[in-house]
Parts: sequence; C-alpha cells; structure tokens
Amino acid sequence: MIYDCIVIGAGPAGGSTAYHLAKSGHKVLIIEKESLPRYKPCGGGVAPIIQEWFDFDFSPVISQKVKIFRYTWQGNNPIEIELKLKEPLWMVRRNDFDFYIIKQAQKLGAELKDKTEVIGVEFKGNCWEIKTKSGVEKAHYLIACDGAKGPMSSLLGFKQKKCNFGGAIEAESSERPTNSSIAHFEFGMVKNGYLWNFPKVDGSSIGIGIVRNSFHQNLRSIASEYSKIFNIDFKSTKQYGHPICLWNGNQILHTKNERALLAGEAACVVDPLTAEGIRPSIFSGIKAAEAICNAISGDNTAIKHYTKVIHNEIGSDMQVANNLSRMLYMFPEICYNKVLKISSATNIMAKIFCGEMRYSEIKKETFKILTKMFTKTA
Ligand SMILES: Cc1cc2nc3c(=O)[nH]c(=O)nc-3n(C[C@H](O)[C@H](O)[C@H](O)COP(=O)(O)OP(=O)(O)OC[C@H]3O[C@@H](n4cnc5c(N)ncnc54)[C@H](O)[C@@H]3O)c2cc1C
Repeated sequence: MIYDCIVIGAGPAGGSTAYHLAKSGHKVLIIEKESLPRYKPCGGGVAPIIQEWFDFDFSPVISQKVKIFRYTWQGNNPIEIELKLKEPLWMVRRNDFDFYIIKQAQKLGAELKDKTEVIGVEFKGNCWEIKTKSGVEKAHYLIACDGAKGPMSSLLGFKQKKCNFGGAIEAESSERPTNSSIAHFEFGMVKNGYLWNFPKVDGSSIGIGIVRNSFHQNLRSIASEYSKIFNIDFKSTKQYGHPICLWNGNQILHTKNERALLAGEAACVVDPLTAEGIRPSIFSGIKAAEAICNAISGDNTAIKHYTKVIHNEIGSDMQVANNLSRMLYMFPEICYNKVLKISSATNIMAKIFCGEMRYSEIKKETFKILTKMFTKTA
C-alpha cells in the first residue's frame, strides 16, 4: 500500500492536516507514537476562529468559555477586564480536543496507527519509506507534525530549527475555580514569562511558561507559590514539563525534493509573545494539506508555495509579536501598569488570540507611541 500522504503526529496540526486531506478524497495515514487519546501539557486556550475552518462542530470538546481576563503582579494589584469578543475564548482538555479532530478525520477515511514511533525516513524510487518500530509505511508525500520534541525536521535534513526555545510546566488541578469564566494571568513572579490558571469544567489547568531564555529560575517552586492563591497544592498534582518552539524568523518548510512539509510546532509557528500554538498549528496543517492536494492535482509550484503562504500569513504577524514580546518581557512592570491596565489594549490582545484581529492590524502609530513611552520610562 502506498498512501498519498503520511502525516506524522496526531496533535492539532496532524489532525487538521489529515482531516482536510481525507476530505479531499486522499488516502492518508496518521502515525502517532503515543496511545490515543494522549495527554499534552497545555493551558488549552483555543481561538474560536478555528470553527470556521472545519465543517464539524467543536462544541463537544469545549470545556469552558472565558469572558474575563484577570491579571496580577506578584499576586497583587489585580486588573480584571471583561473581553469584548464575538465569541469567548475556548478552554479545552487537549486529550479530548486532539483526539476529537483525529476521529473526524477517521470518519472521512483517514487511517491511524498510534503507539507507533517514526524512527527513520528515506525517499526511495518515487516515494517515502517511513520506518517505524513496527515496520515500514510508504507514501508519495509526507507532512511532519511531530511538535516541539519530534525528530522529523532533522530526519528530513532541515538545518537547525530557527526558533526560540521556551518551556513550560503544567498541572491539571481538580480544584474548581470560583468563577469559571475567568482566565488568570500572573506577570510579576517569573522572569520572561507568565503563570496562568485556566478554568476547565472539572477543575483547572495551572502552570508556568517562559518565552525567552531564563531557565535558571526554579519554575516548580514559583508555580507552587502561585498555586497557593487558588488553594491548590501544586506539589501534590501531577506535573508535566514541555519545551515550546516559539517563532523566531521565517524558515524554509519544504524539503528540496518538494515531497515533504513541516507543519505546526515542528515548523515553529508558536506566537513568541503569548505562546499560543494551537491556532497557528491548525492553520499551518490546513495550508499543508491544501499544498499536497494541489501538488497531487499537478501544480508543480504548490509545495514551495506552502513556505511562502506560511511566511505571509503567519511570519508577518509573528515578527510584530516578537517585537512586542521583547518589550513586554524587558519591561514587564511598566507594561503591567501602563498597558495591561488599559482595557482596550487587553481587548486587542484577546482579539488577536481569538483570531478576530491580526497583529499586523495594530496600527503602526500605536506601536510607535508605545515604543516611545517604554524607552522614555525605562
Ligand atoms: C505547558 C504548555 C501550555 C500551552 N498552552 C497553550 C494554550 O493555552 N493555547 C495554545 O494555543 N497553545 C498552547 N501551547 C502550545 C501548544 O500546546 C502547541 O503549540 C501545540 O500543541 C502544537 O501542536 P502540534 O500539533 O504542532 O504538536 P503537538 O500537539 O505537540 O503534537 C505532536 C505529536 O507528534 C507526536 N510525535 C512526536 N514524535 C513522534 C514520532 N517520532 N513518531 C510519531 N509521532 C510523534 C507526539 O507524540 C504528539 O502527539 C502550550 C504549550 C505548553 C508546553
């Protein structure tokens, strides 16, 4: 059996890719090393715009909807802002959410091999031979969606990833939040990152993440202190650490032979300011599927075009996010007191996170004023 396309990784990028390929009538195999449904350390905040990219309903896997952001600085000086969004921010449990997309793809004919780790890949004759611990699978095209820890980009011969390595520790708590429509963020307790407590129907996701080099901090002990605010005993929860590949410049996302693509976090599409990765991973997965469909139909520019699309649609926004990220994490206290307190600023960020607005729409002038303000005050 030679598949049209093999998708490696069953996260949001892999699931979305497989769904869209199967929907176009292609023979797809998803290979995933874990047993599904699998746990993925994540806050689980998802931009509702993704609903527009699928023809099935996501409501069965939306755990909560967030309408209010509440910030603190070292546990004090709270700011609570009601979000003015078309659709509130979704909160999901990743094991349910990711597997749900895979199941929709399976309904359309995509095949799944979980508990199957890819360990090698070779282009032989006119197709890929993908080596797993249980045998070899063949396909004309390959899409690597194996996330921040996967080996595919180096197996496919891509040079070192152009990304900023961040990291996070997350724990699921069964402590129910007092108000389930509030997402909590804390900015003063950790350098170059933030802590969060996101509501879920049966508890919450609490964690700490850093988006710039600051690995000398004791993240577990900071998260433990933060958890006390919510009467959560962090030490007694099961904690999961995970790296994050944050965008740090455009890079080529197709192989020289134009038969394989990188998508999702394997393509480093994660927002360097907020660490939002689900929506850009899904978006890149859908665009990768589109490119393969076009290539199969005879468009010999389709594969190269994918790299361009990601640069134009994601890279241009991520450059703005990277600049803002530098500013926020260099002057966090000033940003906290001067920017986050302004409800319109928070609403702009919420709109960006929810996919209602793009970074490139933040008026250049606003950006200039902010830059001036920060450099003067610093
Ligand atoms: C703690 C934390 C909190 C976060 N919170 C948020 C948030 O609230 N909102 C948000 O938008 N983003 C968040 N992110 C980022 C988001 O989780 C990721 O960007 C997103 O999961 C990337 O999706 P993906 O499909 O590319 O990769 P993944 O979801 O990582 O999936 C990759 C899959 O590939 C599989 N795989 C790896 N290697 C192999 C192999 N050799 N063979 C077969 N399969 C393999 C893995 O098992 C995995 O299932 C967070 C990240 C972290 C670490």
